[in-house]
Amino acid sequence: MSEKAKKSEEEFHFQCPACKKGTISIKKTVYDLPDKDKMLIIKFECNKCNYSDNDIIPLTTNFKPGIISLKVTDETDLQSKVYRSPIGKLEIPELELVIEPGPSATFYYTNIEGILFRFENAVSIYKKNFDKNDPHINEIEELLENIQKALKGEFEFTLRLSDTGGGSYIIPQNKSNYTFRAINNQEIQ
Ligand SMILES: [Zn+2]
Repeated sequence: MSEKAKKSEEEFHFQCPACKKGTISIKKTVYDLPDKDKMLIIKFECNKCNYSDNDIIPLTTNFKPGIISLKVTDETDLQSKVYRSPIGKLEIPELELVIEPGPSATFYYTNIEGILFRFENAVSIYKKNFDKNDPHINEIEELLENIQKALKGEFEFTLRLSDTGGGSYIIPQNKSNYTFRAINNQEIQ
């Protein structure tokens, strides 16, 4: 790809989730391709550790403020890509799991499987606060079981991503499971 194909560049910075000391630069570059398609290249790089990643995203992706929902019905759906911006709210209503917006949230860019792994880890840590005989334990264990089933594609759920800024997106593996509804700011507050 030549430099001439480059259209615009944007840069964002976040604290590195891996080493917590470095700053991650997220570079978004939009390219116009000869066949009139556009695509977005996202590059992540930490200035302290080796954490880095990059991806290519077709620009047919929706970047408008709104609520994105994706039904996850099998293992293929788990590979759908998710990018949550710092103002994006991520929910799985069937499991009552929520990630509230905030710059301190430790992941931004992953797939659905990656989100489930994060939740599984968080719930396992939470479980350690309870005594074996605590009536709460059963509920937590049931939740863990459901997350583990979900990781195998054996538990259907909805991933909902609300973003008033329009910075978040999901790239579905199966487009028929994907819906988008535009919202205004008042509606989400
Ligand atoms: Zn780092």
